[in-house]
Amino acid sequence: MLIRLTEIEDILVVKGEMDTQRFPRTDDTELTLLKPVRYELTVAKFDDTVSIEGPVTVEASMACSRCLEEYNLSMSLQMAIKLTPKSTLPEAAEMELHNDDLDVYYYEGDEIDLDPFIYEEVMLSIPVRPLCREECKGICPTCGRNRNTEPCDCPEAPSSLLGEKLKSFLN
Ligand SMILES: [Zn+2]
Ligand SMILES: [Zn+2]
Repeated sequence: MLIRLTEIEDILVVKGEMDTQRFPRTDDTELTLLKPVRYELTVAKFDDTVSIEGPVTVEASMACSRCLEEYNLSMSLQMAIKLTPKSTLPEAAEMELHNDDLDVYYYEGDEIDLDPFIYEEVMLSIPVRPLCREECKGICPTCGRNRNTEPCDCPEAPSSLLGEKLKSFLN
């Protein structure tokens, strides 16, 4: 959604759905959207600074990193970003701004396109190691069965035990 800064008195609440078609799926994520990404954002303007805050909801499916089964994932993200005009920003201030609690971005002109920011928020929130559930037993390294649905009696090799421990540690 494109918002015009000149149309904001103080605060503007924008509700809508992200235009997913504009963002081709990246190859390094297995996320599949089941519903359009919805947002309800409060856009506030103080002088030249624009803040955008509010919930973004994602209904998607992903493959579990342990058992490889697709599972549904609902995420409710809280977006909170600030934008400053590109023209007024000294180069040196860039580093400082990044240490702020809010993420700071730039805009040019008097229009802000919300979708790329929402898209980025969603991409940043995708779990690195998605799990269908916390206690997912994964796939048996010996017989290849999904141990959540087909328990097997394969003895655990010491090395894979260590691997599992390492995995749960990394998660
Ligand atoms: Zn799983
Ligand atoms: Zn097995």
